[in-house]
Amino acid sequence: MRAFEDADVHATSPFRGKYRHGRTAAGANLRIRAVNQAISCDPRSMPVLCYHSVDSAWASPLAIDSDEFARQCAWLTRHRQVIPAESLVPVLAEGHRPPPRTVAMTFDDGFEGLYHHAFSPLVRNRLPAMVFLVARTLDGGPNHADWLRPQPAVAPSTLTREQVLEMQAAGITFGSHSYAHHDLTQLTEAECVRDLRESREVLEDLLRQPVGLVAYPYGLHAPHVRRAAERAGYDYALSLPEEHEPRDRFAVPRVGKEPRARRSRGSPSRMASS
Ligand SMILES: [Zn+2]
Repeated sequence: MRAFEDADVHATSPFRGKYRHGRTAAGANLRIRAVNQAISCDPRSMPVLCYHSVDSAWASPLAIDSDEFARQCAWLTRHRQVIPAESLVPVLAEGHRPPPRTVAMTFDDGFEGLYHHAFSPLVRNRLPAMVFLVARTLDGGPNHADWLRPQPAVAPSTLTREQVLEMQAAGITFGSHSYAHHDLTQLTEAECVRDLRESREVLEDLLRQPVGLVAYPYGLHAPHVRRAAERAGYDYALSLPEEHEPRDRFAVPRVGKEPRARRSRGSPSRMASS
């Protein structure tokens, strides 16, 4: 019976064929497991899903079509137990196994497309979700994603403070995606601490509550980055590994969509960033 159920779920998954193995962002050569495989083939898998924007008008590997996203929300509601990232991450970090079919939804970068195209289906389906914000965009810096390479002709806008607060009031939760979206592995530990601490403080001032989770820009980390995340006051940090890596409180893996970077196989590039 279990086999039949799993096969049936797989056959009806809206994720089927949408995600493939590949290389992603910003020098990382991240080889992401297919989301479909992660959530459909192994009913005991419990990934933390990493989305970016939901925006039919933005032709980018970082954006998912709004109708497709609505279908995925409906599918997750029906076939998975979607719980808050704040609940799932500690379980994974401690090496425990959550209940079968448990999933958490996260969104990196805080694109404004989330407000217009993800907010409603998330609330309608009562799906908990966490958005990782680049604090500088809410602290007087550019209110758009100026870290994307190549920079689009029109850089996608990021959430305003008012939109963040409206989403928070409706139950969406927020974490840090650093202050300035630097590749933290290229900074010193002291610089990482400064960036991550400033991000946490800006976001806590806005949200009026503790910010305990950080998602590393580009998913990239190193020992000094993990130490910095802890020193900056976070409880847990999320990555985007290309393959299996040791898991601990400051390297909790997620699975994400392949941005289909514009580069040849095996050629590290920063052409597509997340
Ligand atoms: Zn990012």
